[in-house]
Amino acid sequence: LAHVKAADEKVHAFLELTEEAAYAAADRVDAAIAAGSFDELGPLAGIPCAFKDNMNQEGTHTTCASHMLENYVSPYTATCVQRAIDAGCIPLGKLNMDEFAFGSSTESSAFGPTHNPWDLDRVPGGSSGGSAAAVAAGLTCVALGSDTGGSIRQPASFCGIVGVKPTYGMVSRYGVVAFGSSLDQVGPFARSVEDAAAVMDAICGHDELDCTSQQVKADFRAACKQDVAGMRIGIVKEFMEADGLTAEVRERTLEAAAKLEAAGAELVEVELPHVDAAISAYYVLGPCEAFSNLARFDSVRYGLCDEGHKDLGGQYESSRAKGFGPEAKRRIMLGSYLLSSGVYEKYYYPAQQVRTLITQDYTSAYEKCDVILAPASPRTAFKFGEISDPATMYLSDVFTISLNIAGNGGMSMPCGLGRETGLPIGVQLMSPQFKDENMFRVAMALEK
Ligand code: GLN
Repeated sequence: LAHVKAADEKVHAFLELTEEAAYAAADRVDAAIAAGSFDELGPLAGIPCAFKDNMNQEGTHTTCASHMLENYVSPYTATCVQRAIDAGCIPLGKLNMDEFAFGSSTESSAFGPTHNPWDLDRVPGGSSGGSAAAVAAGLTCVALGSDTGGSIRQPASFCGIVGVKPTYGMVSRYGVVAFGSSLDQVGPFARSVEDAAAVMDAICGHDELDCTSQQVKADFRAACKQDVAGMRIGIVKEFMEADGLTAEVRERTLEAAAKLEAAGAELVEVELPHVDAAISAYYVLGPCEAFSNLARFDSVRYGLCDEGHKDLGGQYESSRAKGFGPEAKRRIMLGSYLLSSGVYEKYYYPAQQVRTLITQDYTSAYEKCDVILAPASPRTAFKFGEISDPATMYLSDVFTISLNIAGNGGMSMPCGLGRETGLPIGVQLMSPQFKDENMFRVAMALEK
């Protein structure tokens, strides 16, 4: 905790340190050791962990990095957080993010940005930038983040660590503030594949409090012991030829493919013919779901309340005007427009149809391969303020978004530094739904 306090002055990954909860968890571990009850120690006993600030943890502020929730104190704990704590983790605190998880750089946090530990003048990626930076800077051993369109995988690649977005339904979303309920998924950040596997083993599985969570039988640590001999690795033509993919990211991705081939895997080319429509579909579906989910922050049920107005309408308006930042307002307005009659038929329906096409593309691709290998992000970490236009920022997730649309598993795996920028580059591994263990096998081969 002392180290975090000192080192985080430069990184600003934490929004709150949960010292009391950390000491209470550490005392439980100490007591079990002192009593010789080693069976009571969870599989993650004593491992420091921290949580993205859209995850409820009883007694902590859960702000979603927004003024809207600045004073909100969680009355309960999200299942993913509870499972990490039950496994023995020491909860260090809550981590910075883009406001309500809208963004790719953590610059939209109402409490100031997080800095990339590799170069403090650069962004850590986003929206789970605090989680990625905290792990990369050694402020915590592991962290949890959420990924709606790339928010675990892109920051993991910018910070040179492992980041996992499990298949939709593998980890409970209960108690995680919703952005796009059909797209959101919780997953771990870690500095090694086996660390990420250990956290996955602790957090995944059915939760009766989230009806979209599934009964899964997975043993991620066991998967880490299997090699890749005979596995088929798909290389997506549309991704490798994409505009905006920098030469250094392309080079490292091809090197990773060659490494897998040398380890006994077979490389096959696959196609995702509708993937170029993924960003457009996402920026229809995402804002529609966000608009609906953020309706609860109305100053009455939840959120900042600007009092002293003559009528309720005035209170709603000024509370929301003061509470939400520009990107949140943009998404809410976009969502309300897209769901209005006349417009809905023109955009929302086609976006859902595109969703089906992209999901079918992945299903066909996985007939030819077990895991897909792709870049995680088109480029390495950018400087603060370098991307100011929202539409350009939206392209940061060009390789990650289609996966949330299809609901498959994906992870970002560090694969060296860029030849030009000298900054970390991540490759992305993608698995068919509920075959997430496959990508851990491949990740282990890349880590060697
Ligand atoms: N960058 C994307 C967005 O702004 C994805 C964010 C996320 O995964 N939470 O919507």
